[in-house]
Amino acid sequence: MRRKLAAGNWKMNGTVEDLIELGQIAGLAAEDGPTVLICPPATLISRAADAARGTMLAIGGQDCHTAGSGAHTGDISALMLRDAGATHVILGHSERRADHGESDTLVSEKAVAAAAAGVAPIICVGETLAEREAGETLAVVGTQLAGSVPRSLTDLVIAYEPVWAIGTGKVPTMAQIAEVHGFIRAELGKMSAAFSAEATPILYGGSVKPGNAAEIFAVADVDGALVGGASLKAADFGPIVAALEAAA
Ligand code: PEP
Repeated sequence: MRRKLAAGNWKMNGTVEDLIELGQIAGLAAEDGPTVLICPPATLISRAADAARGTMLAIGGQDCHTAGSGAHTGDISALMLRDAGATHVILGHSERRADHGESDTLVSEKAVAAAAAGVAPIICVGETLAEREAGETLAVVGTQLAGSVPRSLTDLVIAYEPVWAIGTGKVPTMAQIAEVHGFIRAELGKMSAAFSAEATPILYGGSVKPGNAAEIFAVADVDGALVGGASLKAADFGPIVAALEAAA
């Protein structure tokens, strides 16, 4: 039985006043339901963790450095995330790969650092529209997996996020999602690794909304979602969490 996970990525959104919304999202997390995770901007992690204390809501980061400490102005280590109350960290999000030139190797090194600090990595992979149209989706995702996922990890989450579906309102067909998720599970299974492919949650991300969540969660090998825009408000995230809970 794989863990179901509804993860919210607040990106560069949120100030202290949004902790009220976070409190309402905390009310969506139940002991017998899916894991509910919010990854706020780094400035809010500590306060979000305080606000979530006593609830089942988990708090995560959106990136970490490969080092534990040192002369890296503006960066945050996994140890610091853990210290602030984070249990998870999103790594290799396409916005970081594009905006900061993050390579598969760097993502892999960050994942090792996160795991060593006791923070579970959520490793993102996904093709651009040009790559999909060129029929390269599985090759691209396979290369990203091979380069970004350290074989030494025992506990990780993969997020399949087609770049062209993020923040656009466009969603792949359910058959396309099924194809890529099945491929990811098979590729993980081929890695001679410390983790179990069968036990690894694979999230779908890209324009997940209350109106399409149930259909997406019914797809084989979809164990939850990484949600951007619709995770900012409990009114939107609530039905997504409920749809995940209801999924078989
Ligand atoms: C994301 O940021 O990872 C994401 C999937 O965003 P959105 O849900 O807004 O498409």
